[in-house]
Amino acid sequence: MTSEQTFVIVGASLAGAKAAETLREEGFDGRLVLIGAEHDRPYERPPLSKDYLRGEVGRENYVHGDGFYADQRIELRLGRTAVGLDTSAGVLTLDDGEELSYDRLLLTTGAEPRRLEIPGAGLDGVHYLRTFGDSDALRERLDRGGALVVVGSGWIGSEVAASARQRGLEVTVIDPVSVPLERVLGPEVGAIYGEIHHDHGVRMLMGTGVEAFEGGGAVERVRTSDGQTLDCDFVVVGVGVQPRTGLGVQAGLAVGDGILVDERLQTSAPGVFAAGDVASHAHPFYAERIRVEHWANALNQGPAAAHSMLGGARVYDRLPYFFSDQYDVGMEYTGFASAWDRVLFRGDPASREFIAFWLAGDRVLAGMNVNVWDVTDPIERLIRERVAVDDRRLADPDVPLEQLSPQGSSR
Ligand SMILES: Cc1cc2nc3c(=O)[nH]c(=O)nc-3n(C[C@H](O)[C@H](O)[C@H](O)COP(=O)(O)OP(=O)(O)OC[C@H]3O[C@@H](n4cnc5c(N)ncnc54)[C@H](O)[C@@H]3O)c2cc1C
Repeated sequence: MTSEQTFVIVGASLAGAKAAETLREEGFDGRLVLIGAEHDRPYERPPLSKDYLRGEVGRENYVHGDGFYADQRIELRLGRTAVGLDTSAGVLTLDDGEELSYDRLLLTTGAEPRRLEIPGAGLDGVHYLRTFGDSDALRERLDRGGALVVVGSGWIGSEVAASARQRGLEVTVIDPVSVPLERVLGPEVGAIYGEIHHDHGVRMLMGTGVEAFEGGGAVERVRTSDGQTLDCDFVVVGVGVQPRTGLGVQAGLAVGDGILVDERLQTSAPGVFAAGDVASHAHPFYAERIRVEHWANALNQGPAAAHSMLGGARVYDRLPYFFSDQYDVGMEYTGFASAWDRVLFRGDPASREFIAFWLAGDRVLAGMNVNVWDVTDPIERLIRERVAVDDRRLADPDVPLEQLSPQGSSR
């Protein structure tokens, strides 16, 4: 039955490639087309701001080996962009005019960096970071040394700043917030990251924005909103990403902050699904929509969407998880906290080995382990089981996390 069907995936990155893999694993033997605007076969992006950017590793981060797609009879169309979608006819149009009829469609079009629209935004030497090509250009710039200004102290900005310092460059980070990563982690934990960067010699210019880039042809200076002028050799802008919803909007799908999908990752059009950075998902655990811009979400939602494409009824209810590496500080964050009433530490943050918990009342919303490993399962259980925790025991490293969760203690 399925052997006569055509399934099409738009977006050949982590979510799309994992979905294609799962479709074959689950026995889909019809025509399977994976379309990607980039010219590289699907790859993972985390190394692009870390060891790949620093030149410590080569292109080892492809999702699958070279022969995988041919072996699996996955028609990989690289350098092709889907430009039109008619969901009532079930037809997708590519940029070369080809029309593809599909029985099921998955949109894994991801996200793209938000661009700054300020004077000098088009000068040479103003970099953004999303693709292999972006990372290669930046890596070449790091090789030449000099002074870098990083605009934005979120994950990308913080990781690029760390990598550039590790390569010995002079680095200034600018952001209107008061501490790096404040929007996600809040002031207490953001301040710890501020100290880490400070200790590594990064100049943190917080509480001010960027007014303009100046220079003759290439950027030479950054003018801040509080009137300072910073000389630089190049700039990296990391001010967040926006979901690539264009195809969904054009097709009349329900779109908000991302393409809206239900608990099974189906869009407002039957037979059309979305996953990864682009999907605004009705999350059953949170009973609200969330859009997660992280590696593990793409890794897991791709396969979950594939199951739904095959008619599966399973809902996607994994808790968000992400990681970051800066200098010798590695962390994992589990859960989702947009508002909390306090942050509690297990271990001394000054030692850079600790767990931070975000709480509302006696419930844990999220936990972040920093240079402490193998604790994401018990942290996830505390959140998922909505365990009522005692602050003193939660903060005490001598009380195993498993003992705080009724389920965990019996395992
Ligand atoms: C530098 C960097 C470092 C990161 N580090 C971390 C990290 O440490 N930890 C973490 O958890 N996450 C990290 N992430 C985030 C993680 O990489 C993303 O969440 C993940 O890539 C999302 O995968 P995706 O498949 O949903 O979309 P994307 O990776 O954005 O891929 C979407 C693909 O679809 C293609 N596309 C879009 N529109 C079309 C169209 N119309 N036709 C054809 N193709 C199209 C795009 O060209 C792109 O290749 C990092 C991201 C970057 C950029």
